[in-house]
Parts: sequence; structure tokens; C-alpha cells
Amino acid sequence: MAPSPAPAPDRTADLEAVLAEVAEQTRHLAEEGRVQEQPEELPSAEPTRFGLALAELDGTEHVTGDADVGFAIQSVVKVFALTAALRLVGEDLFERVGREPSGDPFNSLIQLEHEKGVPRNPFINAGALVVCDVLLEAADDPYGAVAGLLGDLVGEEATVDRTALEAEREGSSLNQAIGHLMSSFGNVHHPVEEVVELYVRLCSITVTTRTLARAARFLADDGVNPLTGAAVLSEPLARRVNALMLTCGTYDAAGQFAYDLGFPCKSGVAGAVMGDVTGRFGVCAWSPPLDEKGNSRAGRAALHLLSERLDLSLL
Ligand code: GLU
Repeated sequence: MAPSPAPAPDRTADLEAVLAEVAEQTRHLAEEGRVQEQPEELPSAEPTRFGLALAELDGTEHVTGDADVGFAIQSVVKVFALTAALRLVGEDLFERVGREPSGDPFNSLIQLEHEKGVPRNPFINAGALVVCDVLLEAADDPYGAVAGLLGDLVGEEATVDRTALEAEREGSSLNQAIGHLMSSFGNVHHPVEEVVELYVRLCSITVTTRTLARAARFLADDGVNPLTGAAVLSEPLARRVNALMLTCGTYDAAGQFAYDLGFPCKSGVAGAVMGDVTGRFGVCAWSPPLDEKGNSRAGRAALHLLSERLDLSLL
């Protein structure tokens, strides 16, 4: 007898109900992860936080849990820094940074030495530092080029969390080392302290689960900001950012994310996983405890289940 087919995913499901169900089934997974070391007054130091948000292209938003609690954007900002740099210098950027998954931890130095100071991709720290160096070169206001873009996408001004910024500055030795190594190969042109300072300020911008879902929508909408109708990136460049997120956006677990979720994502150490589904919506899950690769445990599980329930895989 032929096996009975799996139940068809529901594309017209009540999104609020699906989010509630996904949250209920996955938030407990946070229990086995560990929260990244950080000041205890930050909400991202609280292991029980959990938020989930979907932002549709027409502006409708669906949220559950702590979706409006602020936390530092951390590595997710690399998507917006890359976008800002592509707006300024286009694909010339890729003369200085590659487009391959690294398969190594996000802050590894080893590969960088072998590969003569050229980072594998813009989403590992080395790549993001080169992007910051390019912003320092090409933008009148390098911080504003990214923060302003994020503000336009979210519809409110981006601000830096001072506590997160101090902690980032104090913990930046490895990023300084990465910067100096690349500088010795001629792939960082500005003083390393300046480049790292821009990077840590960008990592310390406050966001919420809801605002990240909203900010991701331009990538689901061929590069257009649905809030204003303005083109953020050309359609081909938006596709390329999506390709980089799919292949390199979730530390060295990007293959598994593509396999399980099937849509582009970017994660950060504060526990956010932001993604987008072409033609449908921006999405974000937030839960601070991380797995061994540095991705949010419950966030990853939530997006996996959401992908199955709503048929989100593009592959
Ligand atoms: N501030 C962090 C660092 O560069 C960001 C890391 C992350 O979110 O992956 O060390």
C-alpha cells in the first residue's frame, strides 16, 4: 500500500493562530541553550524571553510573546551594513570580500591568514569589518548610512543602546585582532580602532522582533521598501543579499538552516533570527539562549516549524 501523503501545509492559515501555536511548541527549547555573556540588565540576558513576528508586504503585522521588547541587533546588522555598502559602491565591494560560506566560527582568524586577509563573506566578522571600512571610505556619515537605512525600513529612528555599546567595546579584542590582520594584508584602509568602533556601534542599535521582521521586508519585495515605495536596492542586488543570507547568514549552520527552513535568514548573538520569504513577508524570531553554533535555539526551531506550517521554503 502506498504511504499516505503528509498533510498539505496551509497557505491561508490564520497567521495569529499559527504564531501562537509555534510559540507554544518551541519556546521551551531555549532551556538547553546558554545566553551569551553580557550585562545582566539587558533583556537579551534573560533566557525566558521569546518573541515571534511576521510583517506582510501590505503592512499587516502579526506578533506574539515579547515581540516589542528591545535588544541589541548584533550580527543581524550585517545585512543592513552590506545593503548600505552595496548602495554606495555596488558589486565592486566583492573585490575585497568573498561570497562563500566559511564553515568556521564567525570570529575565526585562521582562515583569514590562509586567505591573505580576504574574508569569505560579508556576514562573518572579518567581512563585516571590511564592509565598515568601505562605508568609512564611501559615506559622508558611515554610521548614518546604516542607521538611516534601518530607520527608513522600520519607520522610526534607530538608536544605540549605551549599555550594549560599552560591553561591545570592552569585548572587542578579537575584532581588533581581525582588523589588524586584514590591515597587514592591505584589506583594511582606515585605522583599525575607527573601523571596529563603527562596527560595535552598529551592533548596538536597539531593535525588536517586530521591527526586524518589518526591516526584512524589502528583501522579500525585490529591493523595495514597502513602507515608502522607494527602491533600497535593485532587484538583482536584493536577490544577491538573499543568496548570501541563505548560504552564509546563520554562522556555520547555514546549510542546516537552508535544509530545514528554506528561506534566507541572518542571526545574531542576542538571539534574533531575521528572515524573509519572497513575495510574502519579513519574519523574525527572538530567544536569547543559543545553540553550539551561536544561533538562537528556540528561534531556529520556531522558524523551522513556521516554515513547515506555512509552506515557506523557496527551494
Ligand atoms: N558584537 C558581536 C561581535 O562581533 C556580534 C556577534 C554576533 O552577533 O554574531 O563579536
